[in-house]
Amino acid sequence: MTFTSSYGMQAAVLEKYAEPLAIEDVDRPSPAPDGVVAHVDACGVCRSDWHGWVGNWEWFDYKPPLGHVLGHEPSGTIIEVGTEVEMVAEGDHVAIPFNLACGRCHECRTGYENFCENHLGLGFQKGAPGAFAEEVPIPNADINAVKFPENVDPVEVAGMGCRYMTAYRGMAHRADVSRGEYVVYGLGGIGLSAVQIANALGGNVVGVDLMDEKLDLAAELGAVETVDASVVEDPAAAVEAITNGGAHVSLDALGIEETCRNAVRSLRPRGRRVQIGLTTHEQHSYNSLLTDLIVMNEFQVNGSSRLAPARYGEMFRLVEDDKIDPGAVVTDRIALDGVSDELEAMTEYRTVGIPVVDEFA
Ligand SMILES: [Zn+2]
Ligand SMILES: [Zn+2]
Repeated sequence: MTFTSSYGMQAAVLEKYAEPLAIEDVDRPSPAPDGVVAHVDACGVCRSDWHGWVGNWEWFDYKPPLGHVLGHEPSGTIIEVGTEVEMVAEGDHVAIPFNLACGRCHECRTGYENFCENHLGLGFQKGAPGAFAEEVPIPNADINAVKFPENVDPVEVAGMGCRYMTAYRGMAHRADVSRGEYVVYGLGGIGLSAVQIANALGGNVVGVDLMDEKLDLAAELGAVETVDASVVEDPAAAVEAITNGGAHVSLDALGIEETCRNAVRSLRPRGRRVQIGLTTHEQHSYNSLLTDLIVMNEFQVNGSSRLAPARYGEMFRLVEDDKIDPGAVVTDRIALDGVSDELEAMTEYRTVGIPVVDEFA
């Protein structure tokens, strides 16, 4: 539960689907007894915002209600603390997972807060206003406010609670990328984050995409080879040639029919396909499976979703030791009123890397 006080703050509000967000003065949040309020230092703009903005995802209850504040990739500084909070304090710098967990259900108590039975989607679901705003409330802060190391830039940590931890979960836990394995994927925000992570885990990354800028960025982030899918006739065949028989791991972070299919077709026998991308209105939760290929090659098909906050330390250690650099994926720093332009550009897949809002007032 969130209470509000009477003086206001700037926020980007979803007044109408697929129309520019309204920059409005809204009530500041106050913390629930188990929650905190954070001043938002930075908030990434992600393809999931785009899905919410156009009104996708009612099929799993993530269609934001009109009047909602979007923004689910924040880092912030705690400015107000509820009476029951024990683990974090005023002045702490925190990353905030978009999947706000309850800490009490079976999944939470067995270490899988990413599957919390009572979870709330920050910036998507009613009761969890997002962080395209000066301040954001964090319920159940002992679980959902994740302190990050002092020497890390808040702009780099914006996105840790969504795109970056999602890529980490996919590569480290679900694909279990190992030394020298070939790993293949497209190069949106998650894909580029995954390039770094798989590289740090010892994988040889092959980046596939349609835009030169993304391919160049992937090479900078550690991809050993790239494939320009706008030039080659069959990207999967190109991957097979580069990897001498197909990749060990492929990731589809987009969720459209073609990338799903190519991710499977790029694998060698016994390959692992990790699915992170969710579908749009055209697929409406469904993509066809290449059944015979999966059977004949004993492909593993692994869904990957979110990351339990207790596991964030694994990522932060890689950041502290300079093995991964989340800031390298950040291509732009923008103000709150620039979010709508970024969302519009995503409709045409024109964006490269991740823009981060770091100016709110
Ligand atoms: Zn996101
Ligand atoms: Zn729970």
